Amino acid sequence: MHELGICDAMLKMVRGIMKDEELDAITRITVEVGSLSGVMPNFLADCWVAVTDGTELEETEFVIEELAGTAKCLDCQREFVADLNDLSCPVCKGKKLMPLTGRDLTLKEILVP
Ligand SMILES: [Zn+2]
Repeated sequence: MHELGICDAMLKMVRGIMKDEELDAITRITVEVGSLSGVMPNFLADCWVAVTDGTELEETEFVIEELAGTAKCLDCQREFVADLNDLSCPVCKGKKLMPLTGRDLTLKEILVP
């Protein structure tokens, strides 16, 4: 339950921001999920609903933006958009790939009323 831990941490972070900025409510939270982060966006959304159920953030809109990750082939040095369903180089079919981007999950934006 990787996603549940992430949502828990995110909730704490958002609450910290609310306290620091003296906010009573948040309209919308946007998170950016890299396709190579190992996080399933649908699952993340479900977990967010679970951790915020009955809290002051229950009504907050939760938006997930997916960011396509890129990888580099260590055999032919090409860089390409990585497809998690086919982890091989589109040029030489090599399997030695190094992820470049898309491994992160970031809290991108918090919209206040
Ligand atoms: Zn290659």
